[in-house]
Amino acid sequence: MSTTPTPRPGAPLADRRPSAQFNGAMPDVVLFDIDGTLVDSVDLHAQAWKEAFARFGREIPYDAIRTQIGKGGDQLLPWFLSPTDVAGYGAELDAWRGEHYRREYLPLVRPLPRARQLIQRVRRDGARVGLATSCERRELAVYVGVLGVGDLVDAAISADDVDRSKPFPDVFLLCLARLGVPAHRAVAVGDSPYDAEAAGRAGVLTVGVLCGGFDSDELRGAGCVALYHDPSDLLARYDGSPLAGEWAPAQPGL
Ligand SMILES: [Mg+2]
Repeated sequence: MSTTPTPRPGAPLADRRPSAQFNGAMPDVVLFDIDGTLVDSVDLHAQAWKEAFARFGREIPYDAIRTQIGKGGDQLLPWFLSPTDVAGYGAELDAWRGEHYRREYLPLVRPLPRARQLIQRVRRDGARVGLATSCERRELAVYVGVLGVGDLVDAAISADDVDRSKPFPDVFLLCLARLGVPAHRAVAVGDSPYDAEAAGRAGVLTVGVLCGGFDSDELRGAGCVALYHDPSDLLARYDGSPLAGEWAPAQPGL
């Protein structure tokens, strides 16, 4: 895995440090990323993208693609293609990729350990739950079913609901607006540096999980204030976590 990612050229970055706003109270809402955070899908997305690029005559290494999973197609395509190519066949490639992913790989997606139980705990503690994802609305609906959390989610925002996916803050900002919660009363949970960048730009503190395959240095560099192996680990150490209003500095071994 590479070091801290470079922002996409031209991306406007207003870096509002969320840690300065964190007041140690239990959050009113927890905003979850889905791919790589609640479901085990990052490798499947990378494979679908690799096959989509190949379909359009572009051989791009799997490992290079994998570092970009967590962005939506609108942000991933310009990372690998020139503006001319994006304009010429980007939309067609992304549409093919989406259909290919849903047909070949989406049925293989499984929840990460104790993902549903983690969301249940958030609800039991009195906070609301938002989903803020770079995936498409059709995939989001399948994930909610796979996770069995349809009755536990208060707002769900996908890439289809905004103009710009992560690492832009739009999905987080729209989710906060739907819930009527200010950024400093929210905590985000995500697996990729793009979650931490996007949430940070929205003024939201981010807790990282390593189960999406991004390494701990990369997540810390993007702004994650605490790291856990996966939802099960976060649930096991919930009481000392930012989800319970506790500051959890970097843990040994993570
Ligand atoms: Mg993710």
